[in-house]
Amino acid sequence: MNKKKIIIVGQGISGTFLSWFCYTTGIDFIVIDAEKENTPSRVAAGIINPVTGRRVVKVWLDDILLPFAEKAYAAIGSFLGINAITQTSIVEFFPNPFMRESFLKRLSEKEDYIRLFDDDRAFTPYFNFEFGAGSVEPAYIVNMAALLPAWRNFLKTEHKLIEKSFDHSLLKTTAANVQYESFQADTVIFCDGAAGAANPYFSLLPFSLNKGEAIIIEAPELPADHLYKKSLLLAPLQEPGLFWTGTNYTWEFDNENPTKEFYASITGALKQWLKVPFKIVGHKAAIRPATMERRPFAGFHPVHKNVGILNGMGSKGCSLAPYFAYQLVENIARQQPLLKEADIARFQRILSRTV
Ligand SMILES: Cc1cc2nc3c(=O)[nH]c(=O)nc-3n(C[C@H](O)[C@H](O)[C@H](O)COP(=O)(O)OP(=O)(O)OC[C@H]3O[C@@H](n4cnc5c(N)ncnc54)[C@H](O)[C@@H]3O)c2cc1C
Repeated sequence: MNKKKIIIVGQGISGTFLSWFCYTTGIDFIVIDAEKENTPSRVAAGIINPVTGRRVVKVWLDDILLPFAEKAYAAIGSFLGINAITQTSIVEFFPNPFMRESFLKRLSEKEDYIRLFDDDRAFTPYFNFEFGAGSVEPAYIVNMAALLPAWRNFLKTEHKLIEKSFDHSLLKTTAANVQYESFQADTVIFCDGAAGAANPYFSLLPFSLNKGEAIIIEAPELPADHLYKKSLLLAPLQEPGLFWTGTNYTWEFDNENPTKEFYASITGALKQWLKVPFKIVGHKAAIRPATMERRPFAGFHPVHKNVGILNGMGSKGCSLAPYFAYQLVENIARQQPLLKEADIARFQRILSRTV
């Protein structure tokens, strides 16, 4: 058993993997999480897409992050007795000729993850589409709805979860350790998502929070063997006949609630896209902990050296969180360096201004 002890604040996907790797490494820990329904980890579709953007380029560190994530979800899923990740493909309907051209250009450059359907007629009973379709594979869908509660239950049975809000004013830090109420530990690590932007230790980091919404539909006639994309994403949920659909990105918002505007725009888009009947059965919203430079925040505060962070997952927490949680645990247990692009050492000057 490693002698270190850590307080982890937050049990979204970041806190889940940080505590999982502490557990597998033999580091003692306690998780403090105020159960809140509309966190991004609970609202997310759980999609891991290997390509991104209008130009269909590979995601950052695809060759490292994707295989790592697949293995990490399989391992935690098998430990918990759930199916945490499924490999799938995304059927991408080109919304306009420009997107088709972009896709074909990437194909001619031998992009790894994409191919064109020679015959896309299999989809015509279900979808309206004019400009053809391609396939993106392998993609993955993480079963967040099963994983987060299953790990939470495990933490509870191990007496490693405190279900309440962390109060920063009660945290005492010294050069040697941290003290929070009756808990003494070597370090505290914040995996507090969008709340991190108001965290007294890390509020100076360049967060760029944005709000996203999702709608759950019931469409029993739609085949659940792919993800589908045409500006919107449609992802099958575990419950037969249910699909997740979204999303949007709003940088100006004054609350965390779902909006009538999103509901109206999705309903309109689905009516145009789907040929099969559907019914809206849910509508959710959450704030993404995104960052200005679209890179995560991992590591330790330059002044309060026992205070750490794993945050800034933006719109890609499902693929980023496992790898950077592992890096942080390796850094704690074996002093392994963090990847420079994620290490908050890059903000040393700005963070040194924190009181
Ligand atoms: C609509 C939508 C769709 C998305 N779809 C995808 C997707 O398909 N694929 C993908 O990879 N990503 C997706 N994302 C992004 C993804 O959800 C985030 O990157 C990820 O969930 C961030 O996880 P986190 O654990 O860092 O933060 P969070 O999920 O915000 O977790 C933080 C946790 O900390 C707790 N907490 C905060 N402050 C305190 C405190 N003071 N005391 C106690 N507890 C506290 C919160 O209650 C919460 O449980 C989506 C996001 C949205 C909004």
